[in-house]
Amino acid sequence: MIVVVGGGITGLATGFELQRAGADVVVLEASDRPGGVIRSDVVDGRLLDWGPQRARMTPGFRRLVEALGLEDEVVTAPPDLDLHIYRDGRLRRLPFSMAEFAGSDVVSLRGKLRGLLEVLSSRADPDEAVSDFFTRKFGKELYETIIGPLYGGLYASDPADMRVGLSLIHALREFRIGRSLLLPLLRRGGRINPPPPCSFRDGMQALPDALAHALGRRLRTSVAVDELQRAHGEWAVRTSTGETIQASHVVLATPAPVASKLLSSFAPAAAAVIGSLRYNGLGVVHLTAETELRGIGFKVAFSERELALTGATFNDQLFGRRGVYTAYLGGARHPEVDEMDDQELGRVAVRDFRRTTGYDARVLSVARERMPAWDVSWAGLSDIAVPQGIDVAGNWWSRPGLPGRLAEATQLAKKVAHAPGDGVVSSSPS
Ligand SMILES: Cc1cc2nc3c(=O)[nH]c(=O)nc-3n(C[C@H](O)[C@H](O)[C@H](O)COP(=O)(O)OP(=O)(O)OC[C@H]3O[C@@H](n4cnc5c(N)ncnc54)[C@H](O)[C@@H]3O)c2cc1C
Repeated sequence: MIVVVGGGITGLATGFELQRAGADVVVLEASDRPGGVIRSDVVDGRLLDWGPQRARMTPGFRRLVEALGLEDEVVTAPPDLDLHIYRDGRLRRLPFSMAEFAGSDVVSLRGKLRGLLEVLSSRADPDEAVSDFFTRKFGKELYETIIGPLYGGLYASDPADMRVGLSLIHALREFRIGRSLLLPLLRRGGRINPPPPCSFRDGMQALPDALAHALGRRLRTSVAVDELQRAHGEWAVRTSTGETIQASHVVLATPAPVASKLLSSFAPAAAAVIGSLRYNGLGVVHLTAETELRGIGFKVAFSERELALTGATFNDQLFGRRGVYTAYLGGARHPEVDEMDDQELGRVAVRDFRRTTGYDARVLSVARERMPAWDVSWAGLSDIAVPQGIDVAGNWWSRPGLPGRLAEATQLAKKVAHAPGDGVVSSSPS
């Protein structure tokens, strides 16, 4: 029996792939709902998403959608929706090609020319701060206006607290980027063409719901794992329902603090490192407003220090969710947001939405999420050892985005389905 602990997208997709490989698997999820941070619901007659608002139709995502028979549920954003940057009093369209960039008002002429010097800059040093790396390559203005808000926003982190070797290096390797980031873009015709954003008719929750349906009785909700112990060459998995499940293999697909607690009795060194990983708080406030706003949404330039708002998604435009906007506040650069109560957070979201877009809005929902920071606290994670028969997975272990989650699930299921016997192996994040 293989036990997967945690029914977020990582655990569900791993369980699904193991089931497809013919393994005897059960996924245990502490809450009464599958999906973890992926959550959709209807509030005041409007469909809201609290975790990811959208996915990109990458090949891995498409494969899963097809395997689950969800093709007819997919909604795709209209083509050519713009992303904007808020800077100096207004929203400015973010260019997606070098030609558009030349004519754009998002940064000054001086900032654009400085950016072109990137082709002459040296390659990434794993020890340098991500902020220093981007500033050295593209200049301060481009970093503070575009690159920092976009990259930091993926983790709700401050790139000054992140190190190239602990986070960015994975993307550089994946996209086979050597010394210059700009040259490969120029060779591709100077245009970025990401797959279109997509979601599902009933929101992103449709994906974990379909995985849960496919897993059937192999998914058990409202069952938290409280303790793991080695027992006769296997693992004794103790649950909140008082059961003990014997497992030949356990996959920990929980947030880092829970993985740390479960590892602590038999892998204390690994547990200590995992337990020291930082998470950033993020306020997610859904607003409703009647606007003429066009596009995917916007990010706020780092220079706009008086705003606690870091960006917003225009759900209205993306997937036709009339009058719905999602505002993001806080993260590592705005720790004061953690101190606000829900009423104040909602009030600040409305204030900053008006300042950035010019439109009045009303609060639909106030929520708080926590995101793995992928900052300097990741330094000790590169070579931790966990005993054979235990695998670790999740958005703090390898790439946090949904494509990364699905890739990890597929690789892990292949490995676990053909796992050898006992022993101790080294395990490190990818
Ligand atoms: C606000 C927000 C916006 C995002 N936007 C995007 C986006 O636009 N695009 C994108 O690609 N990605 C996005 N992401 C990232 C992506 O959604 C997450 O990285 C991913 O969903 C995390 O999945 P997970 O399964 O690793 O972790 P989680 O979703 O955290 O799942 C862990 C699960 O473990 C369960 N658990 C905890 N303790 C126990 C226990 N003791 N026993 C059993 N179960 C337990 C939890 O209840 C939870 O269900 C976003 C994330 C957030 C928070």
